Amino acid sequence: MIASIPIPLRGPAGDLLAWACMVCRTAYQQQESARLCCLCPICNKVNSSLPKAFESREHTRCSKQRSEERASREDARYFDRKVPVGIEVIAHSGPVFCAKYLPHQEGFFSSPAALRLWCTEQRLRVPYRAYVCTLRPLDLDVDALREQATSQLTESAEANVRAADWEGLQRLIDQWAKAQDFSDRWEPCDHYMVVVKEKKA
Ligand SMILES: [Zn+2]
Ligand SMILES: [Zn+2]
Repeated sequence: MIASIPIPLRGPAGDLLAWACMVCRTAYQQQESARLCCLCPICNKVNSSLPKAFESREHTRCSKQRSEERASREDARYFDRKVPVGIEVIAHSGPVFCAKYLPHQEGFFSSPAALRLWCTEQRLRVPYRAYVCTLRPLDLDVDALREQATSQLTESAEANVRAADWEGLQRLIDQWAKAQDFSDRWEPCDHYMVVVKEKKA
């Protein structure tokens, strides 16, 4: 069965009440919901093999194929000589991330050289590249504080609070944040990678 054609459900007077999924007979207000009910979201074909209670209508085969494709795309980012489409290789000497080697600090390494060294020590394959990590910014914004400070005030008092030096406070907060040690707040970039192993010419 390829397509799903919703079945109109009519009242005694012929008025349209709802739509039923032709596969599992569940009724919906919207024709489109009835059509999508038992379709696999990956291949858009009917999946009649699962009971209704399942959350996903993905065919097992489709899910498996998709996750294999995803895994091989991810592998290529680390191990293909050729830089994959969508990846920009930049210069970077700080922390890097490699999802292939999660046993080492959940995949984080202090530098490309540290990753290279670790792989060599563990006798693991050195990837050609790894994700560049950036410091995740701390979200400390004075706007929320200002809102909080003014919420219970009369209009004139509120105006005074609003006129206070909030930018000065933001500068203080930024300065404070800079002085803290957030070394565990690194996060990998999606599209930027750095060379870990040089290609042999
Ligand atoms: Zn259905
Ligand atoms: Zn499918």
